[in-house]
Amino acid sequence: MSKEIPYKIYLEESEMPAQWYNVRAHMKNKPAPILNPATLQPITVEELTPIFCEELAKQELDDTTPYIDIPEEIREFYKMYRPSPLVRAYCLEKSLGTPAKIYYKFEGNNTSGSHKLNSAIAQAYYAMKQGLKGVTTETGAGQWGTALSMACSYFGLDCQVYMVKVSYEQKPFRREVMRTYGAKITPSPSMETEIGRKINAEFPGTSGSLGCAISEAVEAATAQEGYRYVLGSVLSQVLLHQTIIGLETQTALKKYDIVPDMIIGCAGGGSNLGGLISPFAGEKLRGEADYQIIAVEPASCPSLTRGRYAYDFCDTGKVCPLAKMYTLGSGFIPSANHAGGLRYHGMSSIVSQLYDDGLIDAVSVEQTAVFEAAQQFARIEGILPAPESSHAIRVAIDEAMKCKETGEEKTIVFGLTGTGYFDMVAYQKFNDGQMTDYVPTDAELEESLAKLPKVD
Ligand SMILES: *Cc1c(COP(=O)(O)O)cnc(C)c1O
Repeated sequence: MSKEIPYKIYLEESEMPAQWYNVRAHMKNKPAPILNPATLQPITVEELTPIFCEELAKQELDDTTPYIDIPEEIREFYKMYRPSPLVRAYCLEKSLGTPAKIYYKFEGNNTSGSHKLNSAIAQAYYAMKQGLKGVTTETGAGQWGTALSMACSYFGLDCQVYMVKVSYEQKPFRREVMRTYGAKITPSPSMETEIGRKINAEFPGTSGSLGCAISEAVEAATAQEGYRYVLGSVLSQVLLHQTIIGLETQTALKKYDIVPDMIIGCAGGGSNLGGLISPFAGEKLRGEADYQIIAVEPASCPSLTRGRYAYDFCDTGKVCPLAKMYTLGSGFIPSANHAGGLRYHGMSSIVSQLYDDGLIDAVSVEQTAVFEAAQQFARIEGILPAPESSHAIRVAIDEAMKCKETGEEKTIVFGLTGTGYFDMVAYQKFNDGQMTDYVPTDAELEESLAKLPKVD
């Protein structure tokens, strides 16, 4: 009756989606409009284009077009590393002794080591099409900067990356990968921008945050002619590009008549999660199917589970548009012992709205438990996972163990967003038994949330 399911479900190149899926088109409650920081009015394409590439600004504000064509040049690049495999974790299932069936969509099969290349290549393409000289950006753990460096070198664009200082120091090899692709890397906060100098003066010795680095990159883009700013997460355009993950997953599952019960993804800014779940959330929104969708975030930076749904700045320097999202406050800087990744204070406005409408659930997990899952997964399935991805692994294992107790044969799909080869400082801490869990107190969160902008 049912087909034998291989360890890896590969799709043909011809089965790769030709369009991205814009879930906003099917949401009854659209994400709230992003606001111009100067006027606090909904921002227009014209107001966005000094910062963003024109086509990307249009995608950012498009709440109505359900399917958007993927340009041929982008598809050609995608074909070098996509379609990515959907893997049946037979070995993990067996070692857990669970009746659950576990699948993971693996996005680590490219040099950048993560899903971020899916959007980097799209953003670089639109910048090239517009005739720009280059782009500026921030990077936290380094995956986005690497992905963008690869995309920019492919299309012949200059690439300037502001890298969160703690990662710059902890990940010298990540830095060198980016330089190999021709990017210029500056530790953030730097003394090169006005906002960087201000943050350094206010918080001497700060290890930096994504919010600071974003402000610096935006300033650098607007200060140079022929440059625009690009972002690797949070924005709706990024989530749109990442829907290639979910669309491929959907096609692969259908090929073998597999119906998932549960879809799990890690959530930093929400782009991989949003990209993975969009087609499934779309089915839910249209009343065609039902799935349990779980966003997993770190307990040290818990925007969905402990944040507030409110308008907030996307960056510390308050130069970017405001978005209504689950946020911890743009001044929130996660503790330095947090092992890179998923450090952002807010969550994609699409994911936030879906969560607020009860279409997705969220859980938070502590980092030692995450690394335990990472180690377990590495030893059984072979892949050394990124710490970010391991948040999803943790919950997938927990859910599979619940199935063991209840005897339910649930089908669990999770997003394995990348590999962890550049995260060995964090793994070292874990291996040495020196990793600790820091969970912010209510008072700390209150202090940060008290500074949210007042917008009605
Ligand atoms: C950046 C990153 C994430 C988190 O970003 P999202 O926008 O939340 O997807 C997760 N996993 C990996 C490997 C990453 O590089």
